[in-house]
Amino acid sequence: MTLFTSSIFSSFFRLLYPRACVVCGDVLVDGEPFLCSACLSGLPLNEGVDEEADEALANDLGVGYLYWLFRYDRASDFHKLVYAIKYRSNRELGVWAGKMLGERMQDDRGIDCVIPVPLHPEREKERGFNQAFMIGMGIASVLGVRVESGVLSRVVNTPSQTGLERGQRADNVAEAFELRDTVCVEGCHVLLVDDVVTSGATIRACMIELSKIKGVRVSVACLGKSGSI
Ligand SMILES: [Zn+2]
Repeated sequence: MTLFTSSIFSSFFRLLYPRACVVCGDVLVDGEPFLCSACLSGLPLNEGVDEEADEALANDLGVGYLYWLFRYDRASDFHKLVYAIKYRSNRELGVWAGKMLGERMQDDRGIDCVIPVPLHPEREKERGFNQAFMIGMGIASVLGVRVESGVLSRVVNTPSQTGLERGQRADNVAEAFELRDTVCVEGCHVLLVDDVVTSGATIRACMIELSKIKGVRVSVACLGKSGSI
Protein backbone atom coordinates (compact mmCIF):
# COMPACT_ATOMS: atom_id res chain seq x y z
CA MET A 1 0.00 0.00 0.00
CA THR A 2 1.46 3.37 -0.93
CA LEU A 3 1.62 6.20 1.58
CA PHE A 4 -1.15 7.97 -0.35
CA THR A 5 -3.58 5.05 -0.37
CA SER A 6 -2.73 4.24 3.23
CA SER A 7 -3.60 7.79 4.27
CA ILE A 8 -6.87 7.64 2.29
CA PHE A 9 -7.61 4.33 3.99
CA SER A 10 -6.97 5.74 7.46
CA SER A 11 -9.08 8.85 6.71
CA PHE A 12 -11.91 6.58 5.52
CA PHE A 13 -11.52 4.40 8.63
CA ARG A 14 -11.72 7.48 10.86
CA LEU A 15 -14.86 8.56 9.02
CA LEU A 16 -16.47 5.22 9.82
CA TYR A 17 -15.04 4.95 13.33
CA PRO A 18 -14.23 8.47 14.52
CA ARG A 19 -11.97 8.70 17.57
CA ALA A 20 -13.74 10.17 20.58
CA CYS A 21 -12.51 12.22 23.54
CA VAL A 22 -12.20 9.81 26.49
CA VAL A 23 -13.69 12.43 28.82
CA CYS A 24 -16.63 14.08 26.99
CA GLY A 25 -17.09 11.72 24.05
CA ASP A 26 -16.87 14.45 21.36
CA VAL A 27 -15.24 13.47 18.09
CA LEU A 28 -11.53 14.28 18.07
CA VAL A 29 -9.98 16.25 15.25
CA ASP A 30 -6.52 15.57 13.83
CA GLY A 31 -3.83 16.58 16.27
CA GLU A 32 -5.96 15.95 19.36
CA PRO A 33 -4.43 12.91 21.11
CA PHE A 34 -6.98 11.30 23.45
CA LEU A 35 -8.74 14.30 24.95
CA CYS A 36 -10.35 17.14 23.00
CA SER A 37 -8.73 20.55 23.38
CA ALA A 38 -11.52 21.76 25.70
CA CYS A 39 -11.12 18.80 28.10
CA LEU A 40 -7.33 18.97 27.95
CA SER A 41 -7.36 22.63 28.94
CA GLY A 42 -9.96 21.95 31.66
CA LEU A 43 -8.03 19.04 33.24
CA PRO A 44 -7.56 19.96 36.94
CA LEU A 45 -3.79 19.65 36.82
CA ASN A 46 -1.47 19.73 39.81
CA GLU A 47 -0.38 23.35 39.89
CA GLY A 48 1.76 22.99 43.00
CA VAL A 49 -0.74 24.68 45.31
CA ASP A 50 -1.06 21.51 47.43
CA GLU A 51 2.66 21.35 48.15
CA GLU A 52 2.36 21.44 51.95
CA ALA A 53 -0.45 18.88 52.01
CA ASP A 54 1.52 16.66 49.61
CA GLU A 55 4.57 16.88 51.82
CA ALA A 56 2.49 15.88 54.86
CA LEU A 57 0.95 12.99 52.93
CA ALA A 58 4.36 11.82 51.68
CA ASN A 59 5.62 11.84 55.30
CA ASP A 60 2.57 9.94 56.40
CA LEU A 61 3.08 7.33 53.68
CA GLY A 62 6.77 7.07 54.53
CA VAL A 63 7.89 8.14 51.05
CA GLY A 64 10.14 10.94 49.82
CA TYR A 65 7.97 12.84 47.35
CA LEU A 66 4.51 12.55 45.87
CA TYR A 67 4.00 13.41 42.20
CA TRP A 68 0.53 13.52 40.68
CA LEU A 69 -0.97 14.73 37.43
CA PHE A 70 -4.54 15.77 38.16
CA ARG A 71 -7.10 15.98 40.96
CA TYR A 72 -9.23 12.85 40.86
CA ASP A 73 -12.90 13.03 41.72
CA ARG A 74 -15.31 10.24 40.81
CA ALA A 75 -18.10 12.81 40.52
CA SER A 76 -16.17 14.62 37.78
CA ASP A 77 -16.03 13.41 34.16
CA PHE A 78 -12.22 13.56 34.31
CA HIS A 79 -12.24 10.27 36.22
CA LYS A 80 -13.04 8.69 32.84
CA LEU A 81 -9.42 9.26 31.82
CA VAL A 82 -8.36 6.58 34.33
CA TYR A 83 -11.43 4.47 33.60
CA ALA A 84 -10.56 4.38 29.88
CA ILE A 85 -7.07 3.08 30.65
CA LYS A 86 -8.25 0.41 33.11
CA TYR A 87 -11.49 -0.85 31.69
CA ARG A 88 -11.33 0.05 28.02
CA SER A 89 -7.85 -1.38 27.55
CA ASN A 90 -6.50 1.92 26.31
CA ARG A 91 -2.81 1.10 26.78
CA GLU A 92 -1.59 3.97 24.59
CA LEU A 93 -3.57 6.42 26.72
CA GLY A 94 -1.76 5.05 29.78
CA VAL A 95 1.64 5.68 28.23
CA TRP A 96 0.59 9.11 26.95
CA ALA A 97 -0.71 10.20 30.38
CA GLY A 98 2.45 8.82 32.01
CA LYS A 99 4.57 10.91 29.61
CA MET A 100 2.52 13.98 30.47
CA LEU A 101 3.22 13.40 34.17
CA GLY A 102 6.91 12.71 33.48
CA GLU A 103 7.23 15.99 31.58
CA ARG A 104 5.81 17.84 34.58
CA MET A 105 8.37 16.21 36.92
CA GLN A 106 11.03 18.77 36.13
CA ASP A 107 12.68 18.20 39.48
CA ASP A 108 12.73 14.41 39.56
CA ARG A 109 15.17 14.29 42.51
CA GLY A 110 17.45 11.66 41.02
CA ILE A 111 15.01 8.82 40.44
CA ASP A 112 16.82 5.66 39.30
CA CYS A 113 13.92 3.47 38.21
CA VAL A 114 10.17 3.00 38.12
CA ILE A 115 8.26 0.22 39.91
CA PRO A 116 4.62 -0.10 38.81
CA VAL A 117 2.22 -1.28 41.56
CA PRO A 118 1.60 -4.85 40.43
CA LEU A 119 -1.75 -6.46 39.74
CA HIS A 120 -2.39 -10.01 40.90
CA PRO A 121 -1.47 -12.32 37.98
CA GLU A 122 -5.10 -13.47 37.64
CA ARG A 123 -6.35 -9.87 37.43
CA GLU A 124 -3.63 -9.01 34.92
CA LYS A 125 -4.59 -12.01 32.81
CA GLU A 126 -8.24 -10.90 32.80
CA ARG A 127 -7.36 -7.31 31.89
CA GLY A 128 -4.55 -8.24 29.53
CA PHE A 129 -2.14 -5.69 31.01
CA ASN A 130 -1.31 -3.69 34.11
CA GLN A 131 -2.37 -0.06 33.79
CA ALA A 132 0.29 1.07 36.29
CA PHE A 133 2.92 -0.54 34.06
CA MET A 134 1.76 1.47 31.02
CA ILE A 135 1.75 4.73 33.04
CA GLY A 136 5.17 3.81 34.45
CA MET A 137 6.50 3.19 30.91
CA GLY A 138 5.43 6.70 29.91
CA ILE A 139 7.09 8.30 32.94
CA ALA A 140 10.27 6.22 32.57
CA SER A 141 10.62 7.12 28.88
CA VAL A 142 10.61 10.84 29.72
CA LEU A 143 12.95 10.51 32.73
CA GLY A 144 15.25 8.13 30.83
CA VAL A 145 15.17 5.49 33.58
CA ARG A 146 14.38 1.78 33.63
CA VAL A 147 11.16 0.03 34.63
CA GLU A 148 11.60 -2.76 37.20
CA SER A 149 8.46 -4.88 37.28
CA GLY A 150 10.02 -7.95 38.91
CA VAL A 151 10.72 -6.40 42.33
CA LEU A 152 7.25 -6.47 43.83
CA SER A 153 4.60 -9.13 43.41
CA ARG A 154 0.91 -9.11 44.35
CA VAL A 155 0.21 -12.41 46.06
CA VAL A 156 -3.35 -11.80 47.28
CA ASN A 157 -6.06 -11.16 44.71
CA THR A 158 -7.85 -8.48 46.72
CA PRO A 159 -11.35 -7.40 45.71
CA SER A 160 -11.66 -3.92 44.21
CA GLN A 161 -11.04 -1.04 46.64
CA THR A 162 -13.90 0.93 45.10
CA GLY A 163 -16.73 1.56 47.54
CA LEU A 164 -14.72 0.53 50.61
CA GLU A 165 -14.20 2.80 53.61
CA ARG A 166 -10.68 3.91 54.53
CA GLY A 167 -10.17 1.26 57.27
CA GLN A 168 -11.59 -1.49 55.07
CA ARG A 169 -9.25 -0.47 52.24
CA ALA A 170 -6.23 -0.83 54.51
CA ASP A 171 -7.35 -4.28 55.74
CA ASN A 172 -8.20 -5.34 52.20
CA VAL A 173 -4.72 -4.76 50.83
CA ALA A 174 -2.44 -4.89 53.91
CA GLU A 175 -0.62 -8.13 53.15
CA ALA A 176 -1.18 -8.23 49.41
CA PHE A 177 2.45 -7.75 48.32
CA GLU A 178 5.73 -9.66 48.52
CA LEU A 179 9.27 -8.94 47.40
CA ARG A 180 10.85 -10.87 44.53
CA ASP A 181 14.13 -9.82 42.85
CA THR A 182 15.44 -6.86 44.80
CA VAL A 183 19.18 -6.72 44.04
CA CYS A 184 18.57 -4.47 41.00
CA VAL A 185 17.11 -1.71 43.20
CA GLU A 186 19.36 -1.86 46.27
CA GLY A 187 20.59 1.65 47.13
CA CYS A 188 18.25 3.18 44.50
CA HIS A 189 15.69 5.96 44.54
CA VAL A 190 12.65 4.19 43.10
CA LEU A 191 9.42 5.72 41.85
CA LEU A 192 6.40 3.62 42.82
CA VAL A 193 3.67 4.22 40.22
CA ASP A 194 -0.09 3.72 40.51
CA ASP A 195 -3.06 5.02 38.55
CA VAL A 196 -4.87 6.72 41.45
CA VAL A 197 -3.98 7.33 45.08
CA THR A 198 -7.19 7.42 47.11
CA SER A 199 -6.70 6.41 50.75
CA GLY A 200 -3.03 5.55 50.34
CA ALA A 201 -3.69 1.98 51.56
CA THR A 202 -2.08 0.35 48.51
CA ILE A 203 1.01 2.56 48.78
CA ARG A 204 1.34 1.77 52.50
CA ALA A 205 1.09 -1.95 51.79
CA CYS A 206 3.81 -1.70 49.10
CA MET A 207 5.97 0.33 51.50
CA ILE A 208 5.87 -2.44 54.14
CA GLU A 209 7.78 -4.56 51.61
CA LEU A 210 9.89 -1.99 49.75
CA SER A 211 11.30 -0.56 53.00
CA LYS A 212 12.94 -3.95 53.65
CA ILE A 213 15.29 -3.42 50.67
CA LYS A 214 18.81 -2.32 51.54
CA GLY A 215 19.41 1.41 51.03
CA VAL A 216 16.25 1.99 49.02
CA ARG A 217 14.42 5.34 48.90
CA VAL A 218 10.89 5.52 47.53
CA SER A 219 8.86 8.31 45.94
CA VAL A 220 5.36 7.92 44.51
CA ALA A 221 3.75 9.02 41.25
CA CYS A 222 0.10 8.66 40.30
CA LEU A 223 -2.12 10.11 37.59
CA GLY A 224 -4.99 11.02 39.90
CA LYS A 225 -4.87 12.21 43.48
CA SER A 226 -8.17 11.98 45.28
CA GLY A 227 -9.34 15.28 46.74
CA SER A 228 -10.11 13.63 50.09
CA ILE A 229 -6.48 12.90 51.01
ZN1 LIG B 1 -13.51 16.28 25.57
